[in-house]
Formats: sequence, C-alpha cells, structure tokens
Amino acid sequence: MRELPVQDIVDTVAKLCIDACHKLPPDLIAGFHQAVAQEISPLGKSVLLKLIDNDRIAREQNVPVCHDTGLTIVYVSLGQEVHVVGGAFQEAIQAGVRKGYAEGYMRKSVVGDPLLRVNTNDNTPAVVHTEIVPGDRVHITVLPKGGGSENWSTMKFLLPGEGAEGVKKFVLDAINTAGGAACPPLTVGVGIGGSFDKVTEIAKKAILRDIGIHHQAPHIAALERELLEDINRTGIGPQGYGGVSTALWVAVETYACHITALPVAVNIQCHAGRRASAEI
Ligand code: SF4
Repeated sequence: MRELPVQDIVDTVAKLCIDACHKLPPDLIAGFHQAVAQEISPLGKSVLLKLIDNDRIAREQNVPVCHDTGLTIVYVSLGQEVHVVGGAFQEAIQAGVRKGYAEGYMRKSVVGDPLLRVNTNDNTPAVVHTEIVPGDRVHITVLPKGGGSENWSTMKFLLPGEGAEGVKKFVLDAINTAGGAACPPLTVGVGIGGSFDKVTEIAKKAILRDIGIHHQAPHIAALERELLEDINRTGIGPQGYGGVSTALWVAVETYACHITALPVAVNIQCHAGRRASAEI
C-alpha cells in the first residue's frame, strides 16, 4: 500500500484549477489554428485569431482566459493500492479547489443553494467523480465548466427506432437552439446509451477527449465526422458571427442501454475548453 499525504491532493487540485483556467490545452489551440486556415468568413477568422491571442495574453500575464472560470468538475481515478493519509479524500478535493480559485484570482461562480443563490465565495463545492482503478497512482483531471455553454446542454430519450438519424437531428437541434450564445467555436460532447444519469456523464466525459482523436468504433467515428460537418454547415460560426467554424470537434461516447431506450445527451463546451490533468 502506498501512502499519499492528503496535502498532495490539495496542492495538485489547486495547481490544476489555476493551470486549466490560465491556459488552454495544446490540442484546442491547434484546433483554433486549423479553423483559421479553413474559415471563409472574414469576421469569423478575425474572432478565431482573437481567441488565439487571448490565450497568449492569459498565459503571459497569468490571468484566466475567460471571466467565467466555471463550476469545477473534478475527475479522479484513485488507485486501489493508495492509502490517503492525514485527512479526508473528498474534503481534500474541495480544499484544493478553494485554494486554487483564491491563489489564481479566479471568479467565484458557485451559489450554495440553487434557489436562495448566495455565492459560496470559494467556488466550492466542486462536482467530483471518483472511480477506483488498479494500481498505486492517483490521476486527477480538472474541468472548469462555464455556465454559458453548460446551460445549452440537453438530454432526451429517443425511441430506439430513431437510431443514428434521430441522434443527429437531436444534436443539430441543440446546436441551432444555442446559436452564438454558447460561445462557439464549440467542442460538442455527445453521450448515447446508458441510463438517465449515465448518458449525461459520458457526454461530459466526451469533451475531455483531445481534439483530433476519434472514437475507436468505426461507426461512432463516422457519426462524429458527420455531426461535425453538419454542425459546421449551420453557419453560426465563431461567437455567432457567421462562418464554417461553429465546432472544432465532436466526440461521442456510448454505453449499453435498456432494450426500450435510446438516451442521448449533448454537453456543449465553449471555446474556453479548459482542462488540466496530473498524476500523483
Ligand atoms: S460559455 Fe465559456 S467562453 Fe462563454 S463566458 Fe462562459 S466560460 Fe467564457
């Protein structure tokens, strides 16, 4: 059994919060550059270049890439040979978020009670997903999720007979409904299958996948390509100013489901597709 001081988890989560909010991942920047090369709208191209510049300035000045530093989603793969010592594991995650958002001067974007709406002033509680895996390592990913894109995410139970065409229509409807309000260019995470809760979980996990990497199953990879082409034919464009770069990527994740069901979820990620990971 490997002993892991709880403070290591606190410090790692804090650093990941700051890193994620202050610099976009390399695959997303590469996606911006590719979109610049393909964009036919001068205004759309200009927006993309500004987003690239925005990331550069944030890195150089150690400031967030967007004022909305999000509700913090934390994914933990906890090795079953790890013994966390010196405190409670779940509290360590929350303490790390608290520390990171204070030290990184990030906006506190969380209200404690959803109806009373009083800001918790430290961006906690984070939403934490923990899975126990073999080994003696802890892998942590922080995904600060902006409200402007999350609010357009959606889920529906289709009839099984609606199949892939029904899925495509549902995703396209979600993108058209969001329009420019979800801060495109987007990364679109799609979940197909599972249960009411599972389908939204896998849709969100899909947006963690690097841009440029397709699903391993050929028919799902084909669906990802078709969806990306269809979304970029909507004409919404970067920030809604028109163009062919409404989405940089579509990632689909699937799960087994009930014989009577075809659940589909769309998790929309904005151009501030922030995520950072570390292993301890
Ligand atoms: S949706 Fe994304 S880009 Fe738009 S304000 Fe929120 S975090 Fe920023």
